[in-house]
Amino acid sequence: KQIILSGIQPTGTFTLGNYIGAIRNWVKLQEEYDCAYMIADMHALTVRQDPVKLRQQILSAFAVLLACGVDPKKSLTFIQSQVHQHAELNWVLACNTQFGELSRMTQFKDKSAKHPENINAGLFTYPALMAADILLYQANLVPVGVDQKQHLEITRDIANRFNNNYGQTFTIPEPYIPEIGAKVMSLAEPTKKMSKSDENQNAFITILDAPEVIIKKFKRAVTDSDMEIRYAEGKDGINNLMSIYSTITGDSYETIERDFSGKGYGDFKTAVGEAVAEALRPIRENYDRLIKDKAYLEETYHDGAQKAAYLAEKTMRKVYRKVGFLAK
Ligand code: ATP
Ligand code: MG
Repeated sequence: KQIILSGIQPTGTFTLGNYIGAIRNWVKLQEEYDCAYMIADMHALTVRQDPVKLRQQILSAFAVLLACGVDPKKSLTFIQSQVHQHAELNWVLACNTQFGELSRMTQFKDKSAKHPENINAGLFTYPALMAADILLYQANLVPVGVDQKQHLEITRDIANRFNNNYGQTFTIPEPYIPEIGAKVMSLAEPTKKMSKSDENQNAFITILDAPEVIIKKFKRAVTDSDMEIRYAEGKDGINNLMSIYSTITGDSYETIERDFSGKGYGDFKTAVGEAVAEALRPIRENYDRLIKDKAYLEETYHDGAQKAAYLAEKTMRKVYRKVGFLAK
């Protein structure tokens, strides 16, 4: 079976973008592949976090993952910081990654422009840690949204370079990007991607938002001054709503255009809001149940970390030998 690895940062409640672009696919892929899914809490430190809030967010993120249908019986489900091999491989890979290639990463440029007061070394070397996450488990496929494509390319470059310099060590991973929904856009600025760390609460829908909130946020979504519901160049707001509606209902763009012809944006926005609220309802209900069961959550992530560490250690031993370190 092919191995899949993916992760998500506990930087806020997961958005509809995270769900459509990532987690929804994670759930489907568990049936066919050997999957490993992690809460990327080490990555979250690249942006300043409040420790008390971070601890809550990590646990909540883990519960959301299970609530969405990630099944710890089928998939390796763990929290990154509990598997120390991620930090170890990160160092070796950082020493095999060039300043020049890291300088080209658009996420670094975006995030450092957003936080000019905290352009830390971790934010810059983030791709080396992401490469470590993937290469530790010898993953064949990495399901990500379009925004992570560049980081996956650098992972492949790092892995190929390491294999060439030290001999075959890592499997070269392929990106696995969904056809539709690979990039859900912000509801406030539809030329930007939807992000859970956006300061504007109206820019994103979270998986745990109440139905009224979801509908209200969609009603406020920025569109255009045209009147027609159709997918077209320059209609970023409407295109985004159509894409969301299409992934949730399965309707094609042609069907949506026909069903809503002659109707106003208000009607369409309400329909999108209702469809999304309904799709997220079971997840919210699962979450409410799971988050109360702290003992179960703890047992589950401890078990996941132990299994992950076993696999990670196999790769780590190989890497240390290849680079010339003495056996322990
Ligand atoms: P942050 O703003 O803290 O970076 P984020 O919303 O970008 O948060 P990540 O944890 O960085 O979330 O990414 C988790 C997964 O969700 C990745 O696979 C990423 O490609 C995917 N993803 C993130 N945003 C979107 C989006 N707007 N549309 C589709 N997929 C997305
Ligand atoms: Mg992100």
